[in-house]
Amino acid sequence: MALQDKQVLVIGGGIAGASAALELAAQGVAVHLVERDDFIGGRAAQLACKALDACQKCNSCLAEPRLAAVLAEPRVSIHRRATVQGLNRTNGDFEVVLSLRPAYLDPGRCTGCGLCLAACPALAEGAIRRPLLAAEAPLLAIDPAACLYFTDRQSTLCRDACPEEAIDFTRQPSQERLSVQAVVLATGFAPYDPRAKERLGYGRVPEVITALELEAVLRAEGGLRRPSDGREPKKVAFIQCVGSREVAGNNYCSRVCCGYALRLGRALQARFGVEVSVFYMDLQSFGHAIDDFLQAAAGELRLVRSMPYDVYAGKDGRVLVEYQRRAGLAPEAEPFDLVVLSVGLSPNPDNQALAGLAGLGLDAHGFLAAGDAAGVFLAGAAARPMDVAEVVAHAGRAAQETIGYLEAKQS
Ligand SMILES: Cc1cc2nc3c(=O)[nH]c(=O)nc-3n(C[C@H](O)[C@H](O)[C@H](O)COP(=O)(O)OP(=O)(O)OC[C@H]3O[C@@H](n4cnc5c(N)ncnc54)[C@H](O)[C@@H]3O)c2cc1C
Ligand code: SF4
Ligand code: SF4
Repeated sequence: MALQDKQVLVIGGGIAGASAALELAAQGVAVHLVERDDFIGGRAAQLACKALDACQKCNSCLAEPRLAAVLAEPRVSIHRRATVQGLNRTNGDFEVVLSLRPAYLDPGRCTGCGLCLAACPALAEGAIRRPLLAAEAPLLAIDPAACLYFTDRQSTLCRDACPEEAIDFTRQPSQERLSVQAVVLATGFAPYDPRAKERLGYGRVPEVITALELEAVLRAEGGLRRPSDGREPKKVAFIQCVGSREVAGNNYCSRVCCGYALRLGRALQARFGVEVSVFYMDLQSFGHAIDDFLQAAAGELRLVRSMPYDVYAGKDGRVLVEYQRRAGLAPEAEPFDLVVLSVGLSPNPDNQALAGLAGLGLDAHGFLAAGDAAGVFLAGAAARPMDVAEVVAHAGRAAQETIGYLEAKQS
């Protein structure tokens, strides 16, 4: 069997899965790229460019061209809304069972006219989702978690508005079977959920947001506003290591948050003229050109070496951040207009099940650990916290190892 006759399953359609798929396809291998969401891209597709006058080398723009290329690659078949239900070894191959959620909005019929969007009363709640990637447009998707039809079984305004009869709420889940010769797991991470740290105010104080929410604001290019009253913030605080370096829990460094927070802080200061303070334990110099940034940021941003322990709403609509500079000094409660939590990278909650299916283990933190399961390879942040540049390199190596395995099998 030549490489051109081989098929590889890549699970996860983020930047890791897309990079591995492109590398495999370039060698002639047919790839099945399995993504559980309606759209590919993962978290990297949610990141914004943080350039000042010059590029800040945040890596965000590494993702889009690769994701567009994988969409256009004829050797890559993309299975959306899909998860792997079965993965059984038979005569050296893997027999795969995919479980597919229904596409209530048929992309084959949709022309992107937008009449359904205009008709939908739950658009703001996300009932009809649009892709973040320009290359995926005009693809739309109905989210049953927000769509009114799935609660009242009566709201069919979008279906009735569609001239192409692209919307059908009666579609059912299905299964698909594949036979592949190797598997790459590229299922990424889960952003830490800061609701677990109640005292930091997320979910309770509207002016406390996560860095991913700030990325979305910057992507929208509509200006920086406070969520509760729409006022422009003048003073913004970043709190580092939220869900990282914990004594109990995520007791590892997430590696990317110092870099993204400093870049975001500088971008906010330069674009919106806000005063930025960064509360940190110690700044980690991982990643591309971070030392230059640490130096530049130390001169431009207010860096406060202290971890806040309480965040709450003040009387005047501002947010009070309580911290203590040093043991023995009195606690300070400083007012801010907006607080950004630099959330870390937690293991994907699917990891236990994925490890069981693929015959892999987990590391001490719950990330997937490469084992001795022949023909199974790991790519990207499924294995450990990484930035996008590291993910692209890691996925390239995973693809090369996969090719090496396929070649060894055929010789
Ligand atoms: C707040 C924040 C800011 C960041 N900022 C930067 C930055 O400025 N620069 C930078 O370089 N990096 C940044 N990062 C890190 C960056 O997001 C990651 O490096 C990158 O997203 C990892 O890519 P990945 O493909 O490995 O994982 P993911 O992006 O997590 O993609 C995994 C994909 O797999 C899919 N998937 C998951 N489980 C399954 C399953 N069971 N079956 C099928 N599909 C599945 C997911 O839906 C997703 O599409 C940031 C991270 C965070 C949290
Ligand atoms: S109305 Fe129909 S064709 Fe138009 S965008 Fe919506 S689903 Fe697509
Ligand atoms: S990269 Fe920085 S903010 Fe992120 S966990 Fe490490 S020290 Fe904390």
